[in-house]
This record gives sequence, structure tokens and C-alpha cells, in this order.
Amino acid sequence: MRFIADGMLGKLARWLRLAGHDVAYIGDFRVPAGEQDTTLISRALGEERVLLTCDIALHRRARRAGVRSAFVESSDVVGQLVEVSKRCGRKISVQPENSRCPMCNGSLELAGKEEIKGKVPATVLRVQREFWRCVRCGKLYWRGKHWKTILEMASRYYRMVR
Ligand SMILES: [Zn+2]
Repeated sequence: MRFIADGMLGKLARWLRLAGHDVAYIGDFRVPAGEQDTTLISRALGEERVLLTCDIALHRRARRAGVRSAFVESSDVVGQLVEVSKRCGRKISVQPENSRCPMCNGSLELAGKEEIKGKVPATVLRVQREFWRCVRCGKLYWRGKHWKTILEMASRYYRMVR
């Protein structure tokens, strides 16, 4: 499933990207505040994305326009995932091995050690074996602390939707 998230759901958007989903985030588009709702609706329709919003008025407007929309009330990201699963009628897959760039939604590809020399701290280079590069923005990633966090959040989420 592909998603588009409103301006209040940046954390959920980054988390879903880490979990392997294609998520457009309105905060990345540089759209004036007054045009955000219209942009969210037209992109959700045009790109067949499920709208994620915590704005009930926008949610209703989107539904009337024929957009698949999931209204999100929880302030906790795991609770938000549970809500999205329920609204979409299926469990959201969490596949961190298919992570996308949390910053720009680009896909990641394995990077060789020689490509990353000088770009990551020497201590990281000694400990980590695999590195990924975002094909869109070039940011480098490795299985550091965030990796453990995402796995912990995933197991919490799976316990809650089971
Ligand atoms: Zn990126």
C-alpha cells in the first residue's frame, strides 16, 4: 500500500518508510499552508495513495472526493499504525529490510565500503558491515540504534493488531 501523510503525521510517515512503505509527506512538498488540503487530495487520487490524516474535516472532504482515507487519532506512532491497519482492513507489513529513506522516501541500495569512507564515523565503519545509500538524496544508513528501535516498535505493533 502507498500512502500520503498530512503535515501532522511526519513521524508516522518516517516510520512507515523505515518499515518499507512508499509514503509521500506533504511537509516535503513546500506547498503553502492554504493549499495543502487540496494538494493532499489531488495527489492521493492521482497517485492512488491512501491518505493518512488526523484532521477529521479533511478526512471527510477526501472521502467525498473518492479518496481512500484513514483518520488517525492516536498521538503514539504504534497506536497510529494500529489505527491505520484497522481503517484499511489489513495489517500493515513491517519489513525493515525493505526500508526506504525516512527523509525523502527514496529507495535504498547497498553501498560499498569504499564509497562511504570519510562519510561515516570511523567507529561506525569498524563495527558495521552493511551500508545503504538513498538513491534520491544520497544519505547513508546502517543498522545502528534506529534498527533496534524499529524492530521493537514492530513487535509492539504486531502484538496489538494480532
Ligand atoms: Zn533520501
